[in-house]
Amino acid sequence: MTRTDLVAALDIGGTKIAGALVDAQGRIRVRTQRPTPARENAEAVHKTVEEVLGELTRSPLWAGARALGIGSAGPVDAAAGTVSPVNVPGWRDFPLVERVQAVSGGLPVTLIGDGPAIAAAEHWQGAAQGYDHALCMVVSTGVGGGLVLGGSLYPGPTGNAGHIGHISVDLDGAPCPCGARGCVEGIASGPSIARRALDDGWRPAPDGDTSAVAVAAAARDGDPVARAAFARAARALAAGIAATATLVEIEIAVVGGGVAKSGEVLFAPLRRALRDYATLSFVRDLTVVPARMGTDAGLVGAAAAALNAPCGVLPPV
Ligand SMILES: [Zn+2]
Repeated sequence: MTRTDLVAALDIGGTKIAGALVDAQGRIRVRTQRPTPARENAEAVHKTVEEVLGELTRSPLWAGARALGIGSAGPVDAAAGTVSPVNVPGWRDFPLVERVQAVSGGLPVTLIGDGPAIAAAEHWQGAAQGYDHALCMVVSTGVGGGLVLGGSLYPGPTGNAGHIGHISVDLDGAPCPCGARGCVEGIASGPSIARRALDDGWRPAPDGDTSAVAVAAAARDGDPVARAAFARAARALAAGIAATATLVEIEIAVVGGGVAKSGEVLFAPLRRALRDYATLSFVRDLTVVPARMGTDAGLVGAAAAALNAPCGVLPPV
């Protein structure tokens, strides 16, 4: 990379498909976005990807693009170059890398899951900057994450490593759509927090808002049921974070996403619960902080993954 080189990035999710040209300092120079036609067939979804890429290729800056990174809702299979996002049912084993390469002038393409992409972004530009061992998480309608180990992003062989949302923390807990039981996501996601609060007797304000944001507001006002729902989510997150730290010795856990925006309503019980679960000497000093990257994390992280692809010259996947 020279200072004028750029990386193209795609961030593919269930609600939007975003694209960008990112420079070597991590700044977004060109950006574009379309809603994901998530209920349509494979080709209709891909047509939206082509529209987003088309806008990038028409930019005068496109000539500087040296590689293309994709962060996609998972599961992805980076080894096969395919994606099967849970929230885009039309795409199952969709050959995204091959199809994107064909319309991007043959640029080398790197594919990772959206969790690892966010970890790459936080490590490059955000709260995990300067840490060689980090877990970065998103807690919103789902729970995902990615790992930085030994100073580098660790996406794993298929690009999904760090998916903390589907670690079981309640062996006899409720069945999870993934097929397991008692997963972190089923306790700590926004909808799970809201459901728990409602089941335990919390009632929304007259505006009828039953989202986790409303539960957080009630918790902030001292509602004991709302506070208990957040405390339970915090314990699930703490158990998952402690397990990760015990396995691979992370120094920091970065937590972002809509639920993390509730601030100390989540982080205070999370820090307390970590003291209960992260007990061994080598995990006791683990810190938990809010994410710093905003909605651009997926794009910046996809660019980071392409920049840091193995073998120096950014080989095709
Ligand atoms: Zn699960």
